[in-house]
Amino acid sequence: MAQRYLKEAVPAALVAKDLAGVRETVTRVIADIRERGDAAVREYSATFDNWSPESFRLSGEQVAEIVAGVPAQVIEDIVFVQAQVRRFAEAQLASLGEVEIETLPGVFLGHRHLPVRAAGAYVPGGRYPLTASAHMTIITAKVAGVERVAACTPPIRGQIPAATVAAMHLAGADEIYLLGGVQAVTALALGTETIGRVDLLAGPGNAYVAEAKRQLFGEVGIDLFAGPTEILVIADEHADPEVVAVDLLSQAEHGPDSPAILVTTSAELGQKVLGYVERILPGMSTKDFAEPAWRDHGRIIVVEDLDEAFAVADSFAAEHVEVLTEDPRQALAKMRDYGALFLGEGTCVSYGDKVIGTNHVLPTRGAARYTGGLWVGKYLKTVTYQEVREPESSAQLGEVCGRAARVELFEGHARSGDVRAAKVRGTRPGW
Ligand code: NAD
Repeated sequence: MAQRYLKEAVPAALVAKDLAGVRETVTRVIADIRERGDAAVREYSATFDNWSPESFRLSGEQVAEIVAGVPAQVIEDIVFVQAQVRRFAEAQLASLGEVEIETLPGVFLGHRHLPVRAAGAYVPGGRYPLTASAHMTIITAKVAGVERVAACTPPIRGQIPAATVAAMHLAGADEIYLLGGVQAVTALALGTETIGRVDLLAGPGNAYVAEAKRQLFGEVGIDLFAGPTEILVIADEHADPEVVAVDLLSQAEHGPDSPAILVTTSAELGQKVLGYVERILPGMSTKDFAEPAWRDHGRIIVVEDLDEAFAVADSFAAEHVEVLTEDPRQALAKMRDYGALFLGEGTCVSYGDKVIGTNHVLPTRGAARYTGGLWVGKYLKTVTYQEVREPESSAQLGEVCGRAARVELFEGHARSGDVRAAKVRGTRPGW
């Protein structure tokens, strides 16, 4: 491998130092909410978001009033996008068959997929009102069959994010709270005097939200580690450098901790992309986030060939991977570690984020090594059952069970096998 950098990121150690501070804050806030419930939730909402309304939960009348104030075109677009998300989620659900097989005469083993009873949907909104996250978390839960979906989003600079509330409502949220950050995640996970706890928490968020979900995992289920967004673009000499630059910055603008990486077989393309980034960045209204993200986490890596590009991309296990090459479908065969692939110039991460219908809640910080993104399956528990209808099979299993359990020194387990075998054989157990 002969990679070289046209632009390097800051050393990872600096990033790790920031995370330690985030961890400490999150631990303290969770402990306090566990102890003091609603009173602590209110204090942290006032501290972090300057937000302390009479009730964090919106009433049906408040929701109706907010939705009525959203422009018709915005509602039409929300309905369009939600239809795309629903259609894909329904197709994914349909792909999940139930299993029942007969392994021995009269021995039936099966599994079923059962939805959790209650899910929390976190819809981010600190820097931008992330309306699309409402479609991703709520619709997917409802398609999976979750009965109660409690959705939270923070106020944005002291204002109610009207389009996001409309999206939550149209997606079918059963409860809508204007509450954000660690306080929202903890309240949903543990429950408070006024917020019922959920069984599973889903949704993306900043480093605080992602860390809170990580720390609460076990007491509540979580979908996956979906923190600050990442983009990796694989490009060959056929790619349009302006499109590459625009797409890198489209994700850098999420926040100053969002990596944007180009892996290219063409140093000439890499240089042109650098030039475009420098030209485009200063004019972006979101440059306060995109500029530090690109400065600290932007990289351009030049590799020998596409096989090396796919291997380097896999080693990052990035959330989003755009493949802007002559034959983008090659990536399907050659890559394994990514949250979502965007094949060819006809689509882009922004389509995935906002409109196309695949879920945009995706693994970050290397979590793509072991999980894909949010989908109906994350809201389902795959549970098993068994039944033995044939006495001879029960006796056979009982005899093996008796011996196998005694190898493990489990006398009680062994007797459950012995008693069944003896009943079928018409004998008495030997103890
Ligand atoms: P957010 O809703 O995730 O976080 C806002 C909350 O953070 C606030 O309500 C506040 O309570 C809390 N907060 C802010 N500063 C704090 C501090 N110093 N201490 C304690 N709490 C603090 O919204 P955001 O900040 O705009 O971040 C959204 C994130 O979601 C971005 O990083 C974006 O990249 C990410 N995202 C990820 C995915 C994915 O699937 N991985 C998808 C979409 C968005």
